[in-house]
Amino acid sequence: MFPFDYLRPQSVAEAVCAHDGEERRYLAGGQSLLAALKLRLAQPSALIDIARLPELAGIHAEAGRLVVGAAVPHAQLAARSTIPALAQLAGSIGDLQVRNMGTLGGALANADPASDHAAGVLGLGAEIRTDRRVIAAADFFLGMFETALEPGELIVSVSYPLPRRASYAKVRNPASGYPVVGVLVAETDDGIRVAVTGAASCPFRLTEFEMALAGDFSPAALEGLTVPVDDLSRDLHASAEYRAALIPVLARRALAQGGGE
Ligand SMILES: Cc1cc2nc3c(=O)[nH]c(=O)nc-3n(C[C@H](O)[C@H](O)[C@H](O)COP(=O)(O)OP(=O)(O)OC[C@H]3O[C@@H](n4cnc5c(N)ncnc54)[C@H](O)[C@@H]3O)c2cc1C
Repeated sequence: MFPFDYLRPQSVAEAVCAHDGEERRYLAGGQSLLAALKLRLAQPSALIDIARLPELAGIHAEAGRLVVGAAVPHAQLAARSTIPALAQLAGSIGDLQVRNMGTLGGALANADPASDHAAGVLGLGAEIRTDRRVIAAADFFLGMFETALEPGELIVSVSYPLPRRASYAKVRNPASGYPVVGVLVAETDDGIRVAVTGAASCPFRLTEFEMALAGDFSPAALEGLTVPVDDLSRDLHASAEYRAALIPVLARRALAQGGGE
């Protein structure tokens, strides 16, 4: 192991102040960061432990929205989210240890192309609240492991508008639990949203599917719709063609299991 400092600030302000450059990293659940340290993919001079900051804790309702603290572990969200699709999504992540340690904020900041939470924030039209601004989910993911966060910017919470109905379906990688593909469908006050994760470098919405579901929010409305293979990922887990075939299947499954009649 290489040497680094361990800092435990007592507030968001102290944490942001302690992060005085690119060489320092926030530590939340450590489920992605510690593996990166062991593999020497990151060699920060200090880890700033934010996991127990009271300002990043808790889940509460706020004027038609659900606000989830950035340090809320997946297991807590699975147990306590008042948005059933979000509870379902969080409960599908990894295994019990990963769900008990890994956090919402860590998952978003890490921006793994197969992050379940990426589909959750994009599909539900969430806002990511940081120590300095509010970022719409649509503007948050810039590329593989790349977000709109500035150096030292700290995710404080995520604010989800309550959907009228929503559901999430995924095909799990049997080893890790990460989605080979995951699809969230939602009917919201702003319209229909269909968000896909695991299939490309960033999560994305399927506007053609959304338009088809606008008149008929049911699996039948998606009959015959396909997804172009061109921009989809191919790796040792699945070909682009397989992912393209999975997306409509999972969208229909999500609609059938509770997102639509
Ligand atoms: C075996 C295994 C299986 C997994 N399976 C799945 C799965 O099925 N689906 C899935 O989506 N994910 C999966 N994950 C990833 C898991 O969800 C992690 O919890 C998540 O990616 C990182 O969250 P963390 O709290 O552990 O963050 P950390 O590892 O502590 O940090 C990750 C990155 O985010 C930064 N960061 C953390 N919190 C904040 C914040 N509040 N503001 C700004 N930056 C922050 C850190 O500096 C670091 O760069 C799996 C991980 C493992 C090890």
